[in-house]
Amino acid sequence: MQAENRKLTSIVIAGGGSAGWMTAAALSNVLPGCRITLIESEEIGIVGVGEATIPPIKQFNQALGLDEFEFLRRTKGSYKLGIQFVDWVESGRRYFHPFGTYGRSFDFGHLLYFWNQAQRQGRASSSLDDYCMAWAVAAQARFGLPLTDPRSLLSTYDYAYHFDASLYAAFLREVSERRGVLRIEGRIVASRLNGESGHVEALQLQDGREVPGELFIDCSGFRGLLIEEALHTGYEDWTHWLPCDRAVAVPCESAGDFLPYTRSTARTAGWQWRIPLQHRIGNGYVFSSNYLDEAGAAATLLANLDGKALAEPRTLRFVTGRRRLIWNRNVVAIGLSSGFLEPLESTSLHLIQANILRLLAMFPDRNFDPTVRDEFNRIANSELERVRDFLILHYHLNRRSEGELWRYCANMSIPDTLSESIEHFRRNGRFVQREHEVFVRASWLAVHVGQLNLPEACDQPLQAHATDSAQWLEKMRATLHAEASRLPTHQQYIESNCRAAA
Ligand SMILES: Cc1cc2nc3c(=O)[nH]c(=O)nc-3n(C[C@H](O)[C@H](O)[C@H](O)COP(=O)(O)OP(=O)(O)OC[C@H]3O[C@@H](n4cnc5c(N)ncnc54)[C@H](O)[C@@H]3O)c2cc1C
Repeated sequence: MQAENRKLTSIVIAGGGSAGWMTAAALSNVLPGCRITLIESEEIGIVGVGEATIPPIKQFNQALGLDEFEFLRRTKGSYKLGIQFVDWVESGRRYFHPFGTYGRSFDFGHLLYFWNQAQRQGRASSSLDDYCMAWAVAAQARFGLPLTDPRSLLSTYDYAYHFDASLYAAFLREVSERRGVLRIEGRIVASRLNGESGHVEALQLQDGREVPGELFIDCSGFRGLLIEEALHTGYEDWTHWLPCDRAVAVPCESAGDFLPYTRSTARTAGWQWRIPLQHRIGNGYVFSSNYLDEAGAAATLLANLDGKALAEPRTLRFVTGRRRLIWNRNVVAIGLSSGFLEPLESTSLHLIQANILRLLAMFPDRNFDPTVRDEFNRIANSELERVRDFLILHYHLNRRSEGELWRYCANMSIPDTLSESIEHFRRNGRFVQREHEVFVRASWLAVHVGQLNLPEACDQPLQAHATDSAQWLEKMRATLHAEASRLPTHQQYIESNCRAAA
């Protein structure tokens, strides 16, 4: 067959949550000749949580041609400079996982060396947070776009967003429909498979309609209508490493400073998120049903809100892990249908984005070359394992005395890859470099140190200045703070640029 004749001309997306509409928007942006159909059921609805993100979402939105301020207005969004972890290592201790780096980008090695040295002499501020720009800005509830001049400290932080995931899906639906995506409202009840290849040929709707296609993207959420119910791909359960399996979520009225960061507070049987949006704060308690029931979790959540609850708490159930194959035959699972690693580091929307971009880079033709599919699965798996290790790091290195969950996590066996990373960092402050890492060295540093996995020694950088480490650090801290003070408050920044209509 000629290459031209092998081109796919028809793609069907099953599901219209964030995953479905992110996929539709991206595919319609670069495959103008292809018929793209999305089927969703309003009656079933979407998960609708998923309000915090990590920095690469900016590139995704840019590639779709979305204007940042318009996007934030439409999704009632805010800026996110990182995550503050409260009581994670032990009660009363907090640390910040910043977006960006520590010190100046080229000083990273010096900073860690000097901080470690001064720390051992009892002369540094006890917190590494003091030496990163993202925290200097976040701690003052300020925001401004990072500068592009690498000589400025105001270029050393990065940012992502908090937003209402349902509004994001609605916004992307508009974009996609403008670009020709056909939306079908209806409930999928079955898939018709080809008897020979086992490929999905069409989806059958409750009202009797059939929607045929060549490539199917399963964005149907946890159930995995195509990848699991039609193709029986199988699921790898990671509950033994990531034991939380429930969340109760409730929005509340805004209160206090409009913070440009997510807060994650450890609780007896899990942790609570706090995500500030323009019109409300999103809250949720992620917990393990082995140690707490849903009513208990809801009561704890309601007792720990900053403002008045705006709805009844809603429970979500999940099993942490991954689908055995994310791409199986002519079905690619994107979103919750491909697996879920719990919301601790806000990675789900990122993994959706990564799989969409990977699919576009490795786009199949009618031959569905298995080597392409295998390579896609290999990279997606490796990326997921890196995120998995990063999440387990937070749980495993706890020293909390309260709660059986925490004792379990401190004592559980962990993946070898993570043991190596912990050991390597503890011995000499070095990072194990692995393929397809989502989180950069500064992120790993924040969590190692934040969870008190402190290096016994640190490599002296090759050209370390002959200087007093504590003085050097104090100067860095003061400069970061002064530079951050020049920025407007987060509230002012949103008011002047992207305030949503009431
Ligand atoms: C507690 C919790 C907190 C989270 N927090 C974050 C976060 O902070 N950051 C982050 O990045 N991610 C987060 N996530 C993940 C995030 O919510 C999801 O990754 C994202 O919303 C994508 O979901 P989805 O589109 O795959 O599934 P869903 O939102 O469930 O959408 C599924 C779609 O499939 C359709 N559908 C299902 N069955 C049928 C059928 N039979 N016929 C027709 N249509 C059907 C539904 O109507 C819906 O449109 C969180 C998830 C949970 C559970």
